[in-house]
Amino acid sequence: MKDFCMKCGSEMSPGEYTCKVCGQNDMDEYRLIRNYVRSFPNSNAIQIANATGISVSKILRYIRDGSLTVVDSHTRRGR
Ligand SMILES: [Zn+2]
Repeated sequence: MKDFCMKCGSEMSPGEYTCKVCGQNDMDEYRLIRNYVRSFPNSNAIQIANATGISVSKILRYIRDGSLTVVDSHTRRGR
């Protein structure tokens, strides 16, 4: 599985979050989103976008890539 820079689309090494081409650090945004989702596990992409200032399309991409789970399965199991 290959990773691509969110900004310029260059190929990135797996586990690498800073783009060697444009210097974009996806980890900062990813961390923001993840922290928000941890506090508000049932938020949707639009709510996350409003709270973090990151565009909805980027958030959806993080989610689609599987790096982010918005609806946490742990909260379901507990009931
Ligand atoms: Zn880049």
